[in-house]
Amino acid sequence: EKRNANEPEFIQAVTEVLETLQPVAEARPDLVEAGVFDRIVEPERQIIFRVPWVDDNGKVQVNRGFRVQFNSAIGPYKGGLRLHPSVYIGIIKFLGFEQIFKNSLTTLPMGGGKGGSDFDPKGKSDGEVMRFCQSFMTELSKHIGADTDVPAGDIGTGAREIGFMFGQYKRLRDEFTGVLTGKGLTYGGSLARTQATGYGLCYFTDEMLKANGKSFKGATVAISGSGNVAIYATEKATELGAKVVTVSDSNGYVYDPDGIDLDVVKQIKEVERGRIKEYVGRTSHKNATYTEGCKGVWTVKCDIALPCATQNEIDGESAKALAANGCYCVSEGANMPSTPDAIEVYFANKMLYGPAKAANAGGVATSGLEMSQNSERLSWTFEEVDGKLKGIMQNIFASCDSAAKEFGMEGNYMAGANIAGFLKVAEAMKAQGVC
Ligand code: NDP
Repeated sequence: EKRNANEPEFIQAVTEVLETLQPVAEARPDLVEAGVFDRIVEPERQIIFRVPWVDDNGKVQVNRGFRVQFNSAIGPYKGGLRLHPSVYIGIIKFLGFEQIFKNSLTTLPMGGGKGGSDFDPKGKSDGEVMRFCQSFMTELSKHIGADTDVPAGDIGTGAREIGFMFGQYKRLRDEFTGVLTGKGLTYGGSLARTQATGYGLCYFTDEMLKANGKSFKGATVAISGSGNVAIYATEKATELGAKVVTVSDSNGYVYDPDGIDLDVVKQIKEVERGRIKEYVGRTSHKNATYTEGCKGVWTVKCDIALPCATQNEIDGESAKALAANGCYCVSEGANMPSTPDAIEVYFANKMLYGPAKAANAGGVATSGLEMSQNSERLSWTFEEVDGKLKGIMQNIFASCDSAAKEFGMEGNYMAGANIAGFLKVAEAMKAQGVC
């Protein structure tokens, strides 16, 4: 803990994983002896760099860039780039650490990594975003490559940013390779990647519900966020027969008892890059309301909660409000959206809990499929990619379920995800010697 003293998010993520791996350490002294537990919590490499760029007024701005190459035991480093003012090394390390297990669960050959910058794309012109992305990639390009490290999108990094970064990489290296995923469809992107995390979250949750005699059909769902993950989780949950009644952003939340009007959300967020408060007045749904303060979204009565905004967005108090309102399932689209207190509340109330590293693995799984398509220089159809995504999410649920049972923790999918994700990486690390 001393070594990472100023990184509370990283310590939180590591503590959760190591606690649930206790029975594995007891059953597998060979992994302890090979130093796997000590090695897996230390990144293989972390890169911090200056990102200078010139704003529209001709003024020089300086941001800080990060890439943490956490673990390459089972494949090239893979993980997104987050652009948000809250970004610092502790956030990137927690995300990179989680990514190791998530990527392992997909069964695809991808190691764990994460990166980003404290740059805030909100309120910036396209030109400013482009100049930032070009400067960011000028340094990052020295450390990544299609067989080394393949970054992707995350908060604040969508198709626009990936496009600018890809263009700069190609210009610097003079090669057209699958060095980034989440690319546009005209230059190597995969169909269904945009939808993948939200759809995958619903496929995973559907499996978890079914295994426990429940279903999305007729259920009321509360979703937080209104970005990439939230939008496509809303779309798929609705398609599966649920009524989604909330979306939010960092300022406040919308409650629409008639079911979220997704066309309006897509227009505001994907086309206009606006704020969610504009929803009321734009939709024809007369009962929709907007409330300031994003935390209030968890006081809305629902059966299923899908947090899709950011880390630690559900604390103990919010979890208690959900339980008191009869919510029986929380499944995580965002990374680490539940605090340790919130998770305790879920277990104490016997709620179904789908942990992020399993439930939101659909995005990176489809990024893995994008890498395969780039390598064979082919593009698969939407149905083909979506079908593979669904199969992967069903398998992830099955592995979490069976790992939890094998170690005597039936129904604890958090422990199941950690154990199943860990074992594959641990075996590979042991086989490759102390490195
Ligand atoms: P977007 O940038 O598209 O959307 C993020 C959403 O979350 C926005 O509505 C944003 O509101 C809200 N948000 C961000 N920070 C905060 C905050 N501090 N408090 C409250 N709300 C906040 O990102 P994504 O949808 O891509 O990512 C959402 C989550 O899903 C993240 O945790 C990400 O790591 C995770 N994830 C994403 C994947 C992907 O494929 N995109 C894959 C796996 C996980 P505002 O506009 O006000 O900032």
